[in-house]
Amino acid sequence: MANASNVQCTKCTKNAGITTCDGCLAKLCRRCFNDHRQDLSKEFDNVVYEHDMLKQELETPNKNYSHHLLKQIDDWKKDSIDKINQLADLCRTDVVKLLDKNKNQLTDRFRKISNKLRKGRDDEDYVERDLNKWMTDLKDLKDELIKPSNFRVEEDNQRSPWIQKIRVHEDFYDPAKVEDGKS
Ligand SMILES: [Zn+2]
Ligand SMILES: [Zn+2]
Repeated sequence: MANASNVQCTKCTKNAGITTCDGCLAKLCRRCFNDHRQDLSKEFDNVVYEHDMLKQELETPNKNYSHHLLKQIDDWKKDSIDKINQLADLCRTDVVKLLDKNKNQLTDRFRKISNKLRKGRDDEDYVERDLNKWMTDLKDLKDELIKPSNFRVEEDNQRSPWIQKIRVHEDFYDPAKVEDGKS
């Protein structure tokens, strides 16, 4: 560097630049140099603040469960349970309707058997064959009431799962490579 007093201050462009900042290479007069150092000092405080905040975060035990990855799992859980509840409600409604319909149909059949029994008693006109037939009809009706043969609840073996499974995946990484912020 030649005679510094010949060089103008980069900042105020009035005074002579008597010193050079080693960081930004600005040539500065005494006053601007002091201002510049003060600015750097403020920025340094910002770095320290960031550092202290991070330190605090690192020293806080993981007990609040507020991390967004944990929230992601909670959201998945809630969405999946909502889906299950909605479908279960829908299927319950359908089954109740079908059970009612089935009961109405069985009641019609039951009424016919009742009439035959009444007539048989009134006329005292029945033999073993009739008794067996009525008993079988009644048992069939009872079975049909407990275990309807024309509808059922079955699991859908669909190819793509209705609820997506989640898992935790860890990427392999070399801590030596990210040391000192060099990547
Ligand atoms: Zn200056
Ligand atoms: Zn500088």
